[in-house]
Amino acid sequence: MKKLLFNRVFDGADEMVAEAEKALAEALKKHGEAAPIKMPNTAYFLANHLAYQNRKVTTLGELKQGFEETKAEWMPRNQRLGDAFRRGFGTFMAAEVIEAVKYIDTATPYGEGNDREYWGHMSDAEVRELGVPLVTGDIPGFVVIVDEAPSDEEAAELIKGYQSRAIFVFLIGKIIDQARRMGVNMNFSVRVVPVGPERWHVAHIISLVNRAAMIFGNTQPGDHNAFDDYTFKRIRAFVNAFAPVRDITVACGGGAIAMGFPVITNDTNDTWPVPKSLIIQEDTKDWIETSLEARDIKLKVTKIDIPVAFSTAFEGEIIRRADMHCDIDGSKLDCFEWVTTKEANEIEDHRIEVIGPDIDTIAEGARSQMGFIVELSGKNMQKDFEPVFERRIHHYLNYAEGIMHTGQRDLIRVRVSKTALAAGFRARHFGEILYAKLKGDYDSIIDKCQVKVVTDPALLKDLKAEANKVYETRDARLQSLTDESVEVFYTCILCQSFSPAHVCIVTPERLGLCGAVSWLDAKATNEIDPNGSCKVVTKKEPLDDVLGIWQDVNDAVQEASHGSLQQVTLYSIMQDPMTSCGCFECICGIEPSTNGVVIVNREHSGQTPLGMTFSEMASMTGGGVQTPGFMGHGKQFIYSKKFMKAEGGPARIVWMPKALKEFIGARLDKTAKELYNIDNFTSMIADEEVSQDPESLVAFVSEKGHPALQLEPLM
Ligand code: SF4
Ligand code: ZN
Repeated sequence: MKKLLFNRVFDGADEMVAEAEKALAEALKKHGEAAPIKMPNTAYFLANHLAYQNRKVTTLGELKQGFEETKAEWMPRNQRLGDAFRRGFGTFMAAEVIEAVKYIDTATPYGEGNDREYWGHMSDAEVRELGVPLVTGDIPGFVVIVDEAPSDEEAAELIKGYQSRAIFVFLIGKIIDQARRMGVNMNFSVRVVPVGPERWHVAHIISLVNRAAMIFGNTQPGDHNAFDDYTFKRIRAFVNAFAPVRDITVACGGGAIAMGFPVITNDTNDTWPVPKSLIIQEDTKDWIETSLEARDIKLKVTKIDIPVAFSTAFEGEIIRRADMHCDIDGSKLDCFEWVTTKEANEIEDHRIEVIGPDIDTIAEGARSQMGFIVELSGKNMQKDFEPVFERRIHHYLNYAEGIMHTGQRDLIRVRVSKTALAAGFRARHFGEILYAKLKGDYDSIIDKCQVKVVTDPALLKDLKAEANKVYETRDARLQSLTDESVEVFYTCILCQSFSPAHVCIVTPERLGLCGAVSWLDAKATNEIDPNGSCKVVTKKEPLDDVLGIWQDVNDAVQEASHGSLQQVTLYSIMQDPMTSCGCFECICGIEPSTNGVVIVNREHSGQTPLGMTFSEMASMTGGGVQTPGFMGHGKQFIYSKKFMKAEGGPARIVWMPKALKEFIGARLDKTAKELYNIDNFTSMIADEEVSQDPESLVAFVSEKGHPALQLEPLM
């Protein structure tokens, strides 16, 4: 007779609890109750305990208290469906206990960097990185694959099948070894994450999901139903569990189902199907289709005629020197990419021309050169959209497996892997990609598109000179685009699918906080669909030009936020600042002892003089809420003349990580020269090498005679 599903959940939960009991007792014996406990690079403590118990665990003793509560209140034994679900969450918390104690001795129990054996805990920065691709649908969903596939080949096929559909893949258990044996590239950037070998590693995935709910959705710790509601409505995740499914997996599955994540399995023993939640599909070859259907995920498919896989999941793929066939290098040779507008009769749609020798004639490992000319026509095409489309080239080419693209304009660098070449990838395929994606994504603007891929060195030299003249004209046009010179701004509400109350106002001098939406991007998005994510905001009724308040803007945010926001200023961080969703590139926060602000970018994991890391500062704001004194923003906003204009502008910046200074320094110096007639302003800004606390910060900026010291008090 089959064992009842309830009993399987109960037994599995008991198994996890027993394991947690053991791990906790050992840790207590070794470290004592006062031992600090902290997951690395997060401001959300043990996120599952915070989410479900509203408990901020900082010591082993507090973890013990949490565990007592888990056993007493989260492990009911009644045979009601709700109790089985509740036990599922209890199982997740027990799992978090087992994993958390591993981080007492070290922040890296599974090794360091991208090559670590297992991924374990994911940082807040990694959670935030998912923001933009989730809202744009570039990541249509998540799959958690548990246990061992019938064969190594099938394991790789399933993983790659999801990857090529851009589904984010988490692996738990023996499938990780199978993937390794098959040479599957695994890390967070290629969206295949080997979380860990045991069932309790699921705690890290649930932690990621719960932090997404807090970061993007402003879900309040302890409000268990709100977390379920968020994950159910907004996180399109599901589970694939290979037979034989153990009780401990069933217990986790109970929690997953309560979160709205269906479980698909081929286990027919001791498993009962539950419509839409627990689905038995014996043919594992059909899992992808069954799973996408169960979670209602519809994929945008672009048919592209190329011999390699194509998916946003490959955007973060790195091609090392040893794996590359050729290195197209704009820093050493004549290269460029150039999008230009033509008359309709000058373009033959879908014509792709390779001018010069093809890539298979290049000696293996050699440096080489290439230029891309993309010619477009369309009734709604505008010259202003050329740079918008040109910047898409970087993303599109990166989506191809075995192709890596960095840089822009005449400083591009493109690597083609040996594997891609062997699969038949040639120069013409760059054109196929650009054609298919541009026409697919911007069909209401682009009617016709033709692409020239140039490799002939003599031609490249002349064409590059021509392209450079165009870049100069464009830069002059961009310079002339100011908040005063344009007639309209735009809203962007793309992030509302995760941050329901958040609205960005995008202006020429203030791009969206994700760094991905400039005023021209918003304009192009609006052109494609005037009722889509970017709507026009007029600016007929200015109320305050220092703070940056317009009645039209207020009306727009009220409408777009469904009444949860009444007023925003565009140029102040202290008074009604713009809200943050969670996917901001940088966070800035006021630093009282210097009368300035500290800015930190997402990539920086160290401390700031505020005594907070990026994650901790970032957790001060988000979820579409206004938080005076803290504000998320894009990197490029730092050198805008409108950055904190109401409080004195970029002169307030007293600290930034060194890498960020290097990235924007030249442009910030130019702005400071124009605004304040200060030379080398960036050299007056402290970084992690000179200061990580208020005392040394004050000493540094005093010595430099930093202008923030002379400005009006911030508070
Ligand atoms: Fe999200 Fe704002 Fe970027 Fe739009 S501009 S995608 S709302 S962060
Ligand atoms: Zn966002």
